[in-house]
Amino acid sequence: MTTTDYPIAPTSFRSVTLTDGFWLPRLETNRTITIPAVLRNCQDFGRVDNFRKAAERLAGRRAGPYVGKMPFEDTDVYKAVEGASFSLALRSDPDLDAQLDSLIQLIAAAQESDGYLYTGRTIDPAHPVPFAGSWRWSNLVMSHEVYNCGHLYEAACAHYLATGKSTLLEVAKRNAALIRRVFGPEGRHDMDGHPIVEMGLARLYRVTGDRGYLEQAQFFLEQRGRHDSRPLYMFAENPGYCQDHVPVREQGSAVGHAVRAMYMYCGMADVAALLPEPTYADAIRDIWRDAVGSKLYLTGGVGARHKGEAFGEAFELPNDTAYAETCASIGSVMWNHRLFLLTGESMYYDVLEQTLYNALLSGVSLSGDEYFYVNPLESDGDFAFNQGSAGRQPWFDVSCCPTNLSRFFPSLPGYVYAEAGDDVYVNLFAASDAELASLRIRQETDYPWNGSVRLRIGTSESKRKRLLIRIPGWAREQLLGAELYRFEPPAAPEPSLRVNGAAADVSMQNGYAAISRDWKDGDVVELDLPMPVRTVVCDSRVAVNRGRVAFQRGPVVYCVEERDAQGQLASLRLEAGGDTARRLVPRWEPGLLGGTMVIGGPGFTAIPYYAWANRGPGPMRVWLPRV
Ligand SMILES: [Zn+2]
Repeated sequence: MTTTDYPIAPTSFRSVTLTDGFWLPRLETNRTITIPAVLRNCQDFGRVDNFRKAAERLAGRRAGPYVGKMPFEDTDVYKAVEGASFSLALRSDPDLDAQLDSLIQLIAAAQESDGYLYTGRTIDPAHPVPFAGSWRWSNLVMSHEVYNCGHLYEAACAHYLATGKSTLLEVAKRNAALIRRVFGPEGRHDMDGHPIVEMGLARLYRVTGDRGYLEQAQFFLEQRGRHDSRPLYMFAENPGYCQDHVPVREQGSAVGHAVRAMYMYCGMADVAALLPEPTYADAIRDIWRDAVGSKLYLTGGVGARHKGEAFGEAFELPNDTAYAETCASIGSVMWNHRLFLLTGESMYYDVLEQTLYNALLSGVSLSGDEYFYVNPLESDGDFAFNQGSAGRQPWFDVSCCPTNLSRFFPSLPGYVYAEAGDDVYVNLFAASDAELASLRIRQETDYPWNGSVRLRIGTSESKRKRLLIRIPGWAREQLLGAELYRFEPPAAPEPSLRVNGAAADVSMQNGYAAISRDWKDGDVVELDLPMPVRTVVCDSRVAVNRGRVAFQRGPVVYCVEERDAQGQLASLRLEAGGDTARRLVPRWEPGLLGGTMVIGGPGFTAIPYYAWANRGPGPMRVWLPRV
């Protein structure tokens, strides 16, 4: 049997061992601080108890009420299990392993006999959680009843792959069997308002080989926008909120709730690659062009509006009221990864990288236990943009973002390389040791602070391979795949590449420097990406950024906090003209914010955007006005 899949294969996160000074400490903080913190919060805030209560109820005993305002509290536990499983895959931890076993036992006990799993109804079916609807599947637009299943499937696959135990996978399969009985050509013709089950089903298909899961994913996608067969989930103030306004293959712009959108596009990519369904690939490429052309923040964040947590109109990109939810950034990284795997085009990785180093990373504090749900590009220090706070918070009533971060970070090493036949893609730069299918690669670099990257090839025998090294858009005067943002002159010096000390025979292809040769053990590739401080200007159709500039160095976007502008941030004005960059000097500060590269300027010091609000909340700006 031939199996259809993405034409490019990602590398397992287990085959790349980070050794770097930037990501490795963050992954360690995630392992030692964030994962234990989210597990503890799931206990302390009743998420775990909800499963216990549902189990009590099913055992015929009285149980206390569901705790939580929302119908998707179960997913925090699922995401915590997923993150902890990934972490176990990287490093054995018997205590954590045992903790997951007992959590999974509880989850299994909360599952009804036909596979249904949704504690917000099972605990008290006569009085279900708000938004759940009076009976099963009766308010799918808001109940998250099938959304919860999607996160369950992802957690179950992660736990199975990490530990070899099928305890949670069996729970997921029982649940998915119910879903397939209820929804389908012979059953109900509708779907959850919040996508993710499509991605979860695709993952179940990968783990089990049962193609029915994949067909179910496509079935759910095909129900969207089908006004001939069902009432659509449309709201007068935002018709595209649920991406249900037109059939998915006819969608060409990024609209609606940003996290729902990202997860749906990921599901479409999976079905496009695995089924395959080429029209889905065309649609998500159109949507991507729309998003990067007019709806993407410089930080990579998506979602301009608090209301509806949604995309705005084209060029509607407010800085102070930006939403840019952390989950949307994680979703965007997953979506751009899939688009790369479908096409081999580096522009998707340009957006992925910029999102990773900025809008995604800002979502967690350097300490690992305080979070941004919302990631604005400007703060006056008072506006409580972050779910009631102007600073970071240790948990939220809706805690999707902290648990999402906990599961994202362990997967990061899997984004560094990819392979397709004789092609080996080098997509991200981080000191690491990789055991790829065809070669071993040791990366030595201080990226993102320094653009020198050394790749040491290891191989037991001479191998003909084409190495495709991504030359980031920021090093080629192309920022984020579109014209929305552009660097001001002067241009940075050209990147250079050498193989074993000599200028390499390189051709450029889709943003990659391609080097075909017989690779031998000990071959060394040296890449130099010059990293001057650049000033960035924005398309003038984004009204709030007119007359303003932002700073970027490598993939890192900078910001200025009040404390670093002598209390004069509101009145800070840069000189007129295009030579601002000349007066900006990068400087390594080992004692600041865990060690970081700052940019010194006249009257201020700029810090990386991701590190803001780690010294308390306060005014901050990414876009600075010019005289
Ligand atoms: Zn979130």
